[in-house]
Amino acid sequence: MGHEAERNHIIRAVSDMTRWGTLDPAGGSVSVRAGTGNIVSTTASSAFVRWDITARNLMVYGPEGAIVERATDLAPPDAPLHLAIYREFPGCNAIVHSHAPYSLAFASLGLGVPSCTNKLDTMGEVPCFSSDDPSVKEDVLAGRVTIDVAECMGSRPDVIAGYVLTVNPQMLEHFGPRAAELDRHGLGFVVYRHGVFVFARHLDEAVENLTRIEVSARTALFQATLHGGISGIKPDAVHHPGATWSDGAYSGSSR
Ligand SMILES: [Zn+2]
Repeated sequence: MGHEAERNHIIRAVSDMTRWGTLDPAGGSVSVRAGTGNIVSTTASSAFVRWDITARNLMVYGPEGAIVERATDLAPPDAPLHLAIYREFPGCNAIVHSHAPYSLAFASLGLGVPSCTNKLDTMGEVPCFSSDDPSVKEDVLAGRVTIDVAECMGSRPDVIAGYVLTVNPQMLEHFGPRAAELDRHGLGFVVYRHGVFVFARHLDEAVENLTRIEVSARTALFQATLHGGISGIKPDAVHHPGATWSDGAYSGSSR
């Protein structure tokens, strides 16, 4: 078993996030890029065993998705996103994804996470990207569109199509111009009705930055409570996947 340091680092991060309530058994993924260029990752079943995993339960795949070190299971369905981020952002060496509850409240309304704390101010905008469009899956199932499934993945082509054809292009369009920010902090986003993703220089930063997003989301919800519930969030900002707070959709003193 190679990549022992990276494996142990991931296990520690998973343990911490589970303890803090930012990683739950409904899903999520953690990966790091080793000095070899290979990617050490949790697997599709990591969440379903309630994150009760050891270093041996992690897998390693190459930059193009070939299996390097096997585990009992294959890479999670969001591996196409991890591969794209590592390919396009040489400064990124760690990715954390979870269905953390407070940021998911915003993602479920198609909203990015507003910055309500000084800690999140330094990370810049946390946008919301739309997720897979049913027509994309239909095109794949009907054979009108072909999706290559890398060796490291066990998911069906129609399952990963949402990442390859919908999330990845939005991620690259938004964060491509912001790549230099990785020298200073991680970059985060939420996916509509799904969860939060952070990519950063190293795993500790990614975990810490995901916590910043979650704490700001929690604070925004508490602010909305103080403002009188949903009236604390402008009604025209909801139900618009892709809307961002930087469009002026939200103001902490909007009432
Ligand atoms: Zn997920």
